[in-house]
Amino acid sequence: MESFASSTGAAVVEDLVRAIRDNAASLSDIDGAIGDGDHGINMSKGFTLCAERLAGTQYDLATGLSTLGTLLLTEIGGAMGPLYGTFFREMAKPAKGQERIDGPLFQTMLQRATDAVVVLGGAHLGDKTLLDTLAPALEALKAALAAGTSFTEALAAMGEAAERGKESTRDMIAKMGRASRLGERSRGVLDAGAASCALILRSMERSFRKLLA
Ligand code: ADP
Ligand code: MG
Repeated sequence: MESFASSTGAAVVEDLVRAIRDNAASLSDIDGAIGDGDHGINMSKGFTLCAERLAGTQYDLATGLSTLGTLLLTEIGGAMGPLYGTFFREMAKPAKGQERIDGPLFQTMLQRATDAVVVLGGAHLGDKTLLDTLAPALEALKAALAAGTSFTEALAAMGEAAERGKESTRDMIAKMGRASRLGERSRGVLDAGAASCALILRSMERSFRKLLA
């Protein structure tokens, strides 16, 4: 069974911070079309605080993810602070105390994070939120692992499903958050949370695959 050492948390968290910082302007532009244009700025602020907090320390994956979650939860505003804060804190929990991360463990982590986002935000599939990226990505990971596919290949399937999920929000009408006030006028552009979620899952896919190689 393919796995990587969970002691290498920095490799994953540093990639996540870079992915969000490098795309902050584009995420804010996406949010600007049907929201208030702060999504990239908020996310970048939270992820940068995490990088500063962890700089120069050695930490495992669970510690890195839970630190990121706590900072997002407590330090950034908007709809996304609590949602992504909870996402990363819940994702960290099954990894705590585990020496290695394999496909089934990561599936449990992503399932737990997704369930928590659903409970907290109350969004359904098709509501034009990050869930439209997250849920199909999780389903693709699960299906690939259940079919006996390697962790590496299952991660690739997750990343591709995340991209498709993100793109699917273009045709949706926003039902949650600020953009829902626009009704039919929210159709035709991507959802900002779905876009950041795809960046996050693609970044994890890439970092994990590097660690597995
Ligand atoms: P704000 O709307 O407060 O400015 P952000 O711009 O940081 O917050 O995030 C907006 C994103 O939050 C949306 O693109 C959507 O994906 C997500 N979102 C908003 N409300 C919910 C919710 N209840 N459940 C899930 N996601 C949500
Ligand atoms: Mg916003």
